Amino acid sequence: MGGPGSGSWYRFNTKDLVEDCYSVDINRWHREGLLQPGLYFSWAWKDSRGDVKASIGVKTLPGAVELAYTVTPRNGEAQEIRYQVPLTYTPCNYGGERPWFVCPGMGCGRRVAKLYLRGKYFLCRYCHDLAYESQREDKATRFLRKAQKIRRRLGGHPGLVYPFPEKSKGMHWKTYYRLRFEAAEAEWASWVALQEKLKRWQASLQRAEEELKGLKGRWQKWA
Ligand SMILES: [Zn+2]
Repeated sequence: MGGPGSGSWYRFNTKDLVEDCYSVDINRWHREGLLQPGLYFSWAWKDSRGDVKASIGVKTLPGAVELAYTVTPRNGEAQEIRYQVPLTYTPCNYGGERPWFVCPGMGCGRRVAKLYLRGKYFLCRYCHDLAYESQREDKATRFLRKAQKIRRRLGGHPGLVYPFPEKSKGMHWKTYYRLRFEAAEAEWASWVALQEKLKRWQASLQRAEEELKGLKGRWQKWA
């Protein structure tokens, strides 16, 4: 198997990426003895028939792993990606140490057991949710702007709380109703995008609450 520097790179299709999420699990690597420094291995994901769908090269360093793979964005050229993910260890209840990835997302640094590939990088689920959320926000804003533009074009107020502008004298009814339909559709799509965003927030809220509960219990144990 090849890997970083060997000239053989691992392939990902963006089509696959949309459908399922590739993840790496540090506990699994730990169990299989793959975390000792100086190792070099490839990690593969297989489909239901057992064929390799994608794989990455992993190099183990003292206190970090280096991931190397190729990502081909839609309508784009293949890109070689390589970066280090720091590792950290916490003592286990039953002795020994438990390893964690330190998420390499910008400004993140969360201690996590799993990293997920979406887009180009393996990051923690919090980082991916943030990226997903900002995409939704863009979508909501884009549709809102479209609805506002049509309202302005008809000489009305862009605000959605104002009534939809009347047909101007020179305009055909057909054109008016087409624009009105387009504005209504854009407004609806904007609310749908916002609703998706709220769902993500709900999930984030639940996770934050669970983490808070877990930490509270731990602290009480020490008190
Ligand atoms: Zn992260």
